[in-house]
This record gives sequence, C-alpha cells and structure tokens, in this order.
Amino acid sequence: MRKIRTNIINPIDQDHTFIGLDYVIAWDDGIFNYIHPYQAGKDLDCEERLDEICIPGLIDIHTHLSQYWIRGRYEPSLLFWLEKNVFPEEALSQNPDFAEKIAEDFFQALFAAGTTTSVIYTAPYPQACEIAFSVAKKYGARAWIGMTLMDQNVNSELVQSTDYAYQKSLELYYKYHNASTLLDYIFSPRFALSCSVILMEKIARFAQDNSAWIQTHLSENQIEIANVLQLFGVDTYTQVYENVGLLTPKTILAHCIHLSSAEMDTLAKYDSCIAHCPDSNFFLKSGEFNYEALYSRNLNIGVGSDVAAGTTLNMLYHSKMVNYRQSVFSLSPERLFYHITLGNAILLGCQDKIGSLDLGKEADLCFLKLPPEPIPVDSLVSALCFYGYEFPVMETVIAGRTVYSR
Ligand SMILES: [Zn+2]
Repeated sequence: MRKIRTNIINPIDQDHTFIGLDYVIAWDDGIFNYIHPYQAGKDLDCEERLDEICIPGLIDIHTHLSQYWIRGRYEPSLLFWLEKNVFPEEALSQNPDFAEKIAEDFFQALFAAGTTTSVIYTAPYPQACEIAFSVAKKYGARAWIGMTLMDQNVNSELVQSTDYAYQKSLELYYKYHNASTLLDYIFSPRFALSCSVILMEKIARFAQDNSAWIQTHLSENQIEIANVLQLFGVDTYTQVYENVGLLTPKTILAHCIHLSSAEMDTLAKYDSCIAHCPDSNFFLKSGEFNYEALYSRNLNIGVGSDVAAGTTLNMLYHSKMVNYRQSVFSLSPERLFYHITLGNAILLGCQDKIGSLDLGKEADLCFLKLPPEPIPVDSLVSALCFYGYEFPVMETVIAGRTVYSR
C-alpha cells in the first residue's frame, strides 16, 4: 500500500485534462484504490510530495530497442540511414551479450523517462527478441515486443528465410502471448521492401485468425514509396498491405506521411492504427504528417518515439514535437498530453487498465519534480507538454511496482 500527497494531472479526453492540486493518490496490490483531495486530519501517514506532479505512466507505441545506441547518427534519408547505421547495428544483436546489454540500457532509459508501456521492435534474431522479453520481465516493464521480419532485400547477416521468419514468429507468439499480464507479442514485418508477399500473407492470416497485434511501417519516404510501387507492381503503398491482409484494427502503421486521400480512406475502412513519430520524421527529412486529414477520418492516431530515428525516449519531448511538426494545424496541450497517455492506451485497447489515474486501473504512473518558478494552474498542462521533458522524473511505477527511483 502506498499513499502519497501530491498534485495530479490526469487526461480526461482529447480536449480536457484534470488538474488536482494537493491530492492524495493511493494504490494497493497494484491497483489505484484512493484518489481524493487531501483532507487534514483524515489523510494520515501520507508520503509528502507536494513539490512534484503525478501523471499517468507515459506510453510509447513505436520504438526500436536494438537501435537505442545509435540515436543521433545523422543521415537525412530513410534508406541510406538504414543501410549505413541501422542494419550494421541490428546485426550486432546476434551476439547475446550485446543483445542483453542494450536491452538493459533501453528499459532503464524508458523508466527514467517515465515511460511505463512501450511497443517495441527488436533485431531480426529470435534470441535477441527472447532476451528483450526476459529483461522486460525482470524489471517489470509493460510492453508489446516483436522480432523484426526481413526475408528479402537485405544483406545475408540479417536476412531470414521466409519459413524461418514465419515459424520463429509463431514460436515467439506462443511463448509470450498470455505468458504475463504485462507482456505480449506483436508480429513485426519491418516494411514492404524487406518482406515478401508470401511472408506478409502468412503473418497476416495467422494474426487475423488469432486476433494478434501487428506492427509495420507505411509510406515514410518518397524513395521508399517509389521502390515499393516498382517492386510490387501496385499503384499505392497501402495496396500492398491491403492485398496481403495486413490491415486490421490491431495493426499499428508507423509514419503514414505521404498517403493519398484514397489510402487514408482505406486505413479508415480497416480501422487500422497509426503511430505518428514526429521527431523521427524530421530527423530523416521524411516529410510532414497530415494530422488534420487523418484525424478528420476518425483514424486512431497514437504517438511513438521511433528511437533511433527519434532522438529520445522521452515522450514529453515527443508531445511537444507533435505540435511543432505541424506547420499550420494547432494541437492543444490537452490533446498532446492525451496522445501520450490515455489516447495511446485506447489505441492499444487497454484503456480499462492504464492510461489515466483512475480508481480500479493498474497503478502505472510517474512523479515529476516541478521547476522552481511558479506556474499558474491554467498553464500547467502547457508547461508539461512544452518543456516537461526538462522536469526531473523522480519515480516511475508499473502495476504498483517501482521500476525507477531517482
Ligand atoms: Zn520505426
């Protein structure tokens, strides 16, 4: 049982945030059981943390564990960046010692940034994926983790045979799906260029039959798109995924920058999810995400760090980038905060368990130290979303367990 006197900031919906100054928040056995304004004489034995704010644990719906150590290696074009930086780095995860060390660093950095839930790609090696699961389990992370799939157009160190990629994915799914309340497996074809039609069809069929999660990348870069159209003989990138059955309500498509109106309508038809990764899009000079057009179609838009093309795991930094990377369209601080908390939880279908500080939900939260300058109450959410990444994370808790303490 923990009972803490602090200030809470809680998402209500896309346009509203609740601010509770001098509140008491408590949890027992990993579940919130008391959230109430502080009452002198009644709320005894509280930990006093009035110089901090308590927010829901942050959620990152798109990131690459095995790239964590190559953040900031500049190469402003996706395919060149993959060849020069990413593929050689991911090949290093063949070595189990390397895979373990980078997984340890990655999860520690996630928790130090206040992130409690993440959706992760690992390198294209089953053992590296298993190591990521075991480190996640050891530290109590909440995560969807998948082995990256590549059965074509990549060098011999990384390429998998189609059967191997499919069979190993299934083995990992059976081993980790439902093995823990905090962890799940997500099928992870990298992108169309590196996956054959046969592999994508098999993965899609299995995932659909088992209502499993899928993640991939879509329409990130103009050269990538031109290559996809030529390789698959289609009119649009989205058609490739539609034809093989990869578009489902449990498919997370990263980027979706250069979609035509018809492609956006197709994604809406299948109710697929979008991972918007603004920092990555500008690091690689991929282009500007058409938030307004996609949002107007009621598409489920979430936000991801996309490390290592994204430069940090800090989701408060990415909330700012969601705003900054729209040249004209304005997103409110309430919307930004919603995206990295409750919005991402809804996208993952787990808003009954996480995403906000509410009675009966699992105790995923973090405490941030307030800066010394006074911030008016009506500017707190704005401060949090525009420079909250500078607020020191004091403690991160997942399902009631402290996973990070400053
Ligand atoms: Zn990515």
